[in-house]
Amino acid sequence: MKEYDLIVIGAGPGGYEAAFEAADRGLKTALVEKNALGGTCLNRGCIPTKALLHAAGLYTMAAGASAFGIDVGEVTADPARMQQRKNDVVQQLRAGIEATAKRKKVDLYRGLGTVTGEGNVAVSGETTEDLHAAHVLLATGSRPARIPLPGSDLPGVITSDELLEETGRIGRLLIIGGGVIGVEFAGLYAALGTEVTIVEAMPQLLPAMDRELAQSLKMLLTKRGVSLYTGARVREIKESENVLTCVFDREKRPGKEGGDVETLTKEADKILIAVGRRPCTEGLFAEGCQPAMERGRILVDENGQTSLPGVYAIGDVTGGIMLAHMATAAGINAVRHMAGVAERIDTRFVPSCVYTEPEIACVGLTLDEAKAAGIAADSRKVPMTANGKTVLTGAERGYIRVVFEKESGKLLGAQMMCERATDMIGEFTQALSAGLTMADMARVIRPHPTFSEAITDAVRG
Ligand code: NAD
Repeated sequence: MKEYDLIVIGAGPGGYEAAFEAADRGLKTALVEKNALGGTCLNRGCIPTKALLHAAGLYTMAAGASAFGIDVGEVTADPARMQQRKNDVVQQLRAGIEATAKRKKVDLYRGLGTVTGEGNVAVSGETTEDLHAAHVLLATGSRPARIPLPGSDLPGVITSDELLEETGRIGRLLIIGGGVIGVEFAGLYAALGTEVTIVEAMPQLLPAMDRELAQSLKMLLTKRGVSLYTGARVREIKESENVLTCVFDREKRPGKEGGDVETLTKEADKILIAVGRRPCTEGLFAEGCQPAMERGRILVDENGQTSLPGVYAIGDVTGGIMLAHMATAAGINAVRHMAGVAERIDTRFVPSCVYTEPEIACVGLTLDEAKAAGIAADSRKVPMTANGKTVLTGAERGYIRVVFEKESGKLLGAQMMCERATDMIGEFTQALSAGLTMADMARVIRPHPTFSEAITDAVRG
């Protein structure tokens, strides 16, 4: 039995960052992982998708370069080499995690970690180990959800895990689910010339986000040739001679009561199922060692503590906001709680980002949400059309909307759809955390010419 202060199960951005935080605080730490280091984010999520999206962005840019006086000849995209580059990026970052673990003296164990008793974890992999610690942190993440749909197990009906390994060209891609994964893959494949269709059950794309953002995105995707069906429920998927056919019922007027429904069919070479993710807990608990759970997710308190003494859980396995940066923050906070450190990362404001072209990013409340919460709120929208950097780079237009308390001018939230929105949202997150007003935000100099100076326009009014 090897003795530790903390055993972390799962080496995604929640688990490995928590392990590093623990090591920095002097805790003897073990990190258990059954697959590749980096979890979903690095191996099957954030990093590989953004690597491919970056390549697709370069392709679009090169194809449009003559408008800037640069002639590059015929531009072609090679999916196999795009994959290779993506794999190199993943490999490099994975090696970085391994090197950091070594430097911080975090012991890595390769295998399935199972909680077998109070503070006990059994590792079964190429070798087996029994570990013991005062604290155990569960950070086992999530996997793509499957829908119980006739035909959903046909070859060619895939999740984001398999699509990220695709090295060939796809002629027609149909995506079930117009959430974050759905719209990012739609943008990627539409840029590469694939005929893309999205079938979304709710009345709008990105149902969890502001209506105005969803509407703007719908216009952009439609302009790029993506076929969109909202208020659409898939009935079944059929296959004949390697062609898949998706059969779905669509409300003629999505979101309106009593509207007619029509049954449509759409052919595709691949069908991506992107309807959310489910927590991973298979093999995680020996009999009698399972903490309180609800619909597959581990229940935790505000410090990440489960119902088992000394056992914490963070990230996707706890449900809620399934984002890498949220898992990292929750992991660090859980370790600080174990270590008796008072300081916490502020998790009240969690930025959410969608890597479309242009990018989408939001934090805090929308105007509708603020009003629904009974706050006397107002908002201001600044289009990017007058922003110098936007014009000179030929970026898609877009906008920044800020939501604030009428009386005090206190910032309540921001929604952005513009170039570099995913970087700029950090400024609004910081301002929300600090409780800044519009006037506070307008009091600093932002450099010119930048996309970020549009923030000054938005908050100055
Ligand atoms: P999601 O919850 O964002 O979207 C799923 C979509 O599928 C929803 O719009 C839902 O209405 C729709 N849907 C569900 N059942 C359906 C059905 N039967 N037919 C048609 N539509 C249906 O989930 P996702 O896009 O799969 O992403 C999973 C998780 O990964 C999310 O928590 C997301 O935040 C995270 N993620 C984040 C990023 C990012 O931050 N950029 C990128 C990818 C994924």
